[in-house]
Amino acid sequence: MHPFTYARAADTREALNAGRRGGRYIAGGTTLVDLMRETVEHPGTLVDISGLPLREIRATEGGGLRIGALVTMAATAADPKVRALYPVVSQALELSASAQLRNMATIGGNIMQRTRCTYFRDVTAACNKREPGSGCAARDGFNRMHAILGASEACVATHPSDVAVAFAALEATVHLLGPDGRERNLPFADFLLRPGNTPNREQAIHQGELITAVEIPALPRPLKSGYLKVRDRQSYEFALTSAAVALHVRGGVIREAKVAAGGVGTVPWKLPAVERHLVGERPSAALWAAAAEKAADGAQPLRDNRFKPELLKRTVERELRVVGGTK
Ligand code: SF4
Repeated sequence: MHPFTYARAADTREALNAGRRGGRYIAGGTTLVDLMRETVEHPGTLVDISGLPLREIRATEGGGLRIGALVTMAATAADPKVRALYPVVSQALELSASAQLRNMATIGGNIMQRTRCTYFRDVTAACNKREPGSGCAARDGFNRMHAILGASEACVATHPSDVAVAFAALEATVHLLGPDGRERNLPFADFLLRPGNTPNREQAIHQGELITAVEIPALPRPLKSGYLKVRDRQSYEFALTSAAVALHVRGGVIREAKVAAGGVGTVPWKLPAVERHLVGERPSAALWAAAAEKAADGAQPLRDNRFKPELLKRTVERELRVVGGTK
């Protein structure tokens, strides 16, 4: 590990001032400390923001939820409001990481986490994300876990977060506060960046900006939702494929459908073609299967993950069936 200085911010102003000077924010530390140990990351200054007052989950006008950036994954998953209004968020969190990590890691840190591509974490391998211009060892290497959607020549790594898939499906907003005190709200779809030619830049966040909250908008009720994660083992493993689904059905007709996939895209992958296929229709087994057929549109599998398009379709179909019923 490279030497670094550590400072604990007493309040938001102190944190933002340190962020403006180039300090890196740290709270749970479950990703950043690992990356520092592996010498993938070497920040000069860590600014501990764990004491800031960003640990509240509250209802917003109209029935949405605002989750403070420093609420832990475990506390978010267990919150009665989250469980009642957006079970898809609780389920995604409970299927993530391990109990110990969920007790430490925060919602803000979760959406800032970096890829689990093994070549990214191996400092002897070529990796455009870690070292721009060095190449991509995964393209010709072992790429079973990698992306089939949203990749570029420069990078084919997946985004590892489960709850980010739920946030993408529900069209959440990320609240940011800049060093100049200016607030900025970004649609979740714009917050995480596809790799393009700059895979080293993963979030649309400016130097010194602080994530203060993630807000889930109000959605029509009744709303049923859920998350399915398919992986190589039952715990402490990243998704091969996953699906976040939310459906509003009234009068026997689907009025709203929110669907996104994980484990397949360089960012959580919203599925608008699937959503369009569902809205205005009556739930049925045939509808779930026909909608899920569109889940892998545009997929470009790599040598070792040709199974992913079919697995993705089956994952989406199954979660539609679980959330929407089979009538
Ligand atoms: Fe690096 Fe991306 Fe290639 Fe993985 S897929 S080696 S993160 S450039």
